[in-house]
Amino acid sequence: MKVLIVDDSPDALTVAKARLLKEGLEVICADGGRAGLEAARVQHPDLILLDVDMPDISGFDLCQQLKADAELGMIPVIFLTGSSTTADRVKGLDIGAVDYVTKPFDAFELRARVRAALRTKHLQDLLIKHARLDPLTELPNRRALMERLQQESSLIQRHDGSLSFIMADIDHFKQVNDTHGHSAGDRLLQRVAQAIVGQCRQTDLPARYGGEEFAVIVPGEDASDAFYLADRCRRAVEAVTLELGPDTLRTTASFGVADATGSSSGQDLIQAADEALYRAKQLGRNRVELAAHTSQPAHLR
Ligand SMILES: [Mg+2]
Repeated sequence: MKVLIVDDSPDALTVAKARLLKEGLEVICADGGRAGLEAARVQHPDLILLDVDMPDISGFDLCQQLKADAELGMIPVIFLTGSSTTADRVKGLDIGAVDYVTKPFDAFELRARVRAALRTKHLQDLLIKHARLDPLTELPNRRALMERLQQESSLIQRHDGSLSFIMADIDHFKQVNDTHGHSAGDRLLQRVAQAIVGQCRQTDLPARYGGEEFAVIVPGEDASDAFYLADRCRRAVEAVTLELGPDTLRTTASFGVADATGSSSGQDLIQAADEALYRAKQLGRNRVELAAHTSQPAHLR
């Protein structure tokens, strides 16, 4: 795990770094408040050790800036303080620090407090990860999908670019559960998830939208390109087989594809893809339909 030490005193940095390297931690040093904020943004450490008294930005002010930042606010902060007054310690904890160490610090105490903070950070990371994961398919869940869609659509509202969204729904899935039971249905969902993931690039975000619905966020492509991805997914789902005793279960899925223009919100994209998916169902299933406003891919023009 990675620890950032922010202190204007070169001696304090050297001592703290030497002690933490013994813990097998990656240690980054910043020699002031501004440098510390910059290092936190670039390096995303798991823990920040923060000096209270610094000439450019005080540790208290820097801690408040970190805690107000959506991305950096979750990084635990331990204050390094020369002051052992109760008022200062209380203030540090009240503005969001998890702990404090009084300088000159004892090597064993510093390491123990760092280990404790990193244990908590690790559990917090696990909780965040599980809150965003669908346990059955191990794909990102709807919460993770909505967060990422929000980020991607605000990105293309600020800078130009393309963004597409694919919505997929397994055809006649209810019959699988009714005929073969929910455990067969669950295994089929897992296979379909793998089939869709197998077609996606590193930059795409495939997710379980809910029930038998899947979605893929496709950054950097408009719908006529995402159409081909959706059609590859469609064929991959068609190739899925599930052995159920003497029977082999096969399935298909229908797909709707939409892309964002500068003003589209994530919700607009979902709705447009959902309408296209509905049309794919109406037109006989196991097919890909584009949202009404998008241009057709070359082979369909
Ligand atoms: Mg200082």
